[in-house]
Amino acid sequence: MKDKSMLMIPGPTPVPESVLRALGTHPIGHRSGEFSQIFARVTQGLKWLHQTKNDVLILASSGTGAMEAGMINFLSPGDRVLVGSNGKFGERWAEVALAYGLDVQEVKSPWGTALNPDDFKAALEADTAKTIKAVVITHSETSTGVLNDLEAINAQVKAHGALIIVDAVTSLGAVSVPVDAWGLDVVGSGSQKGYMMPPGLGFVSVSAQAWEAYKTAKLPKFYLDLGKYRKDAGKNTTPFTPPVNLFFALDAALEMMQAEGLDNIFARHARLTQATRAAIKALNLALYAPDDAASPAITAVAPAGIDAEKIRSIMKKRFDIALAGGQDHLKGQVFRIGHLGFVCDRDILAAIAGLEASLRE
Ligand code: PLP
Repeated sequence: MKDKSMLMIPGPTPVPESVLRALGTHPIGHRSGEFSQIFARVTQGLKWLHQTKNDVLILASSGTGAMEAGMINFLSPGDRVLVGSNGKFGERWAEVALAYGLDVQEVKSPWGTALNPDDFKAALEADTAKTIKAVVITHSETSTGVLNDLEAINAQVKAHGALIIVDAVTSLGAVSVPVDAWGLDVVGSGSQKGYMMPPGLGFVSVSAQAWEAYKTAKLPKFYLDLGKYRKDAGKNTTPFTPPVNLFFALDAALEMMQAEGLDNIFARHARLTQATRAAIKALNLALYAPDDAASPAITAVAPAGIDAEKIRSIMKKRFDIALAGGQDHLKGQVFRIGHLGFVCDRDILAAIAGLEASLRE
């Protein structure tokens, strides 16, 4: 018998039955009253998840689309931006900024280590003329399993006055991202991660300070013009035809998340992370990220002397458990275990048992 695959990758993540059922219904018109009711409900749910009163806008995009929108709506050609880079996704935001003609300064740390808030302090304090307009940070760096210290870096950004633009793609819904308490200006995320949904929706929260910057921002935009989304959100709809079934799914997923409660969601992810890391240590394998900067979404394992791709392939063939591989230069050197979204203790137990057996092959 072919059982369902176990998806232990950091997105797309497993999807609960209630969310699957919500997907499998007839579409409705996005200008209907019925859609508006769903739109209003999910917008409230998103604000709850982001712990904010800011606008949280919904795009038909992946996480990259949400981040691209989060960058281009608030900046003008030639603007200086600082981009934190300690993995694949930090590098991507520097690429996006360059593609739009921004003046990019990367603040780097080696892959597998956390960004150093003091490096941001130094770069921002040196900018006495206040030419740096925004700082872009990846909160949970999925390529390495490192959680960057967003709170400490953000404190430096606030002291300077630049906008902070956060990639919370694998942190939102796994660890607290208190948008209002920390004053996070722009936060991007995607549905196939902590939201327990299939891919297809991108989310961007936008602060009042960011909307001020929007007024004078001159980078080109059309489909990703967040002003359009904000205007139509006021009428509980979207500027372009939305993937309405994904809105049904979002409604179901947010209902489940609200029933679990934010603290319980974060505690579950912390527990799954600790359990995974303890098991990896017990198997005498090396963890790629340090304990004090462990991502709540993903654990990267560096099985020195063993081909990480071979382990992944055995796990898939023997147990139908999908793990993620290493990205870029880490291919073959690390495998990554996702523990994000609709994942429970039993999933981790199964993945670890499968891993233990695979190592013996
Ligand atoms: N940022 C992070 C931290 C991610 O993990 C990912 C995807 O894995 C992305 C951005 C890109 O998201 P997407 O593939 O949905 O565009």
